[in-house]
Amino acid sequence: MASQNKVQGKVVIVTGGASGIGEATALLFAENGARAVVIADVQDEKGQKLAGSIGTDRSTFIHCDVTDEKQVKSLVESTVALYGHLDIMFCNAGTVSSGKQMVVDFDLDMYEKLFAVNVRGMAACVKHAARAMVGGGRKGSIICTASIAATTGGNIHTDYVMSKCVVLGLVKSASYQLGEHGIRVNSVSPGAVATPLVCNALGMGVEEVEKTFESTSCLKGVLKLNHVAKAVLFLASDDSEFVTGHNLVVDGGFIFPQSTQF
Ligand code: NAD
Repeated sequence: MASQNKVQGKVVIVTGGASGIGEATALLFAENGARAVVIADVQDEKGQKLAGSIGTDRSTFIHCDVTDEKQVKSLVESTVALYGHLDIMFCNAGTVSSGKQMVVDFDLDMYEKLFAVNVRGMAACVKHAARAMVGGGRKGSIICTASIAATTGGNIHTDYVMSKCVVLGLVKSASYQLGEHGIRVNSVSPGAVATPLVCNALGMGVEEVEKTFESTSCLKGVLKLNHVAKAVLFLASDDSEFVTGHNLVVDGGFIFPQSTQF
């Protein structure tokens, strides 16, 4: 994709940035003129490699487990110390429980582990990004990764669906509270993309995931990482300057004949 410098000069953090949707979006931010792309993740090697490929002059990897609020606070503070401020926060780190999480035999310990990342972690990222942005005299954009599961529901990973519903509530509330400060808060809700998260959860390879979900969209195509990354770029950039509290669904028009979805 030809660069259009949609985020020229912006300072960006991407959580869960070492893989999948986060990685693709970090690269697209870099291609679009971001001054600094901070990759935050628990996968150090992958994150460092990605930051190196963008260039050490404008990208850094910072180890951050989003379940630990201190690490999230430090991530944001380190970014501001390194680059002066924070313009865009892509709160994207997420996980899925292994095995089925049906209502009748809910594993509540596992559910808490998942909520620690998908809900508590997301809230910590929004909180500390907002603190860094409020009063800075600059416009800010916070984007959270939800999922189509938040609106379609699902019949396997109940805990995951619940967690993504919470993300939509967080985004709406934050958008009300932060709008007067010039900070927009939106979510992106992807359909199924063949990332490690989905492949592991379904026990399928990339090709099998893509084949399985190809027929579940009106567009009858395969959802790719860049489809999602481009939607995040739109929400991050001034192209969406009067959009807040919105959930942007990127799923090719989901049709629900399957027993699995993310
Ligand atoms: P992925 O596995 O490729 O990436 C997830 C990243 O999050 C990994 O790099 C992982 O190390 C990181 N992560 C996990 N726990 C973390 C923690 N505690 N702290 C920091 N980083 C952590 O998967 P993905 O599909 O790219 O997932 C990204 C987001 O997209 C998730 O929030 C996921 O729920 C959401 N999502 C994915 C799909 C899909 O089909 N792939 C659909 C809808 C929503």
